[in-house]
Amino acid sequence: PPVLGVDGAVKHYDGGGVVRALDGVSFELHAGELLGIMGPSGSGKSTLLLIAGLLEPPTAGEVRIGGQRVSWPGADLDGLREVRRRRIGFVFQKPNLIPFLNATENVALALEIDDVPPGPARRHAGGLLRALGLAHRASSLPARLSGGEQQRVAVARALANDPPLILADEPTAALDSVRGRQVIALFRRIADERGAGIAVVTHDPRALDLFDRTIELSDGKLVGASTGIGGLVLQ
Ligand code: ADP
Ligand code: ADP
Repeated sequence: PPVLGVDGAVKHYDGGGVVRALDGVSFELHAGELLGIMGPSGSGKSTLLLIAGLLEPPTAGEVRIGGQRVSWPGADLDGLREVRRRRIGFVFQKPNLIPFLNATENVALALEIDDVPPGPARRHAGGLLRALGLAHRASSLPARLSGGEQQRVAVARALANDPPLILADEPTAALDSVRGRQVIALFRRIADERGAGIAVVTHDPRALDLFDRTIELSDGKLVGASTGIGGLVLQ
């Protein structure tokens, strides 16, 4: 089965009137696949990721993780904390680091929660931070890091438990093109070497060659998809 399946996801928000953030979106993500989610601001990309990551229930439709139906309208997502913790690495638009833990400790915490002893957890965290070009920031508190550096720590934290599914909401927005490409290149490696399925919301066309496939949203609908490298194919 696919790592992630989203079937007919609809999401309405109440805000004065009803905001139709998603209007029947379906897609699948397979092991080893790096998928880009594109589309203009307000088209529903963040909402789609929150629903796929079991952080928001859909208004209609369902989400399958590893072939198992886990989310549907009215589902109790609180009960799915274990699924999220063990199977999903999520990178939010904001890094949300713990301010009194340094970079290594922020990443290692994700492992210690999973019962990895502190020593190995810190070594693994250090290796991930090195891979993201942050070796020299390993002992820095978040407040001493730039926005881009904080975001890379958040990426390392999401990768720490080796989750089969990784969802990232514009992880490169605060990064220059070299750093941004470095993050996408690490996702590419994690997909290739660990077989993770990875979906990344991105506006940035500069790293598109690293993706297997992209889908494009407009006004809450899937309007385009590409297979492989190259231009967008309208459906
Ligand atoms: P982007 O366009 O880059 O996705 P936004 O500024 O639209 O970022 O959204 C940032 C955050 O604000 C998201 O967590 C989103 O859920 C929330 N948000 C966006 N629009 C609204 C809204 N109309 N009411 C309440 N929250 C919103
Ligand atoms: P994108 O990530 O593509 O910018 P979003 O998923 O953030 O799009 O938003 C899609 C639509 O839903 C927008 O009109 C946004 O204002 C609205 N929206 C997002 N989050 C909320 C929220 N929590 N409450 C109300 N409206 C929201």
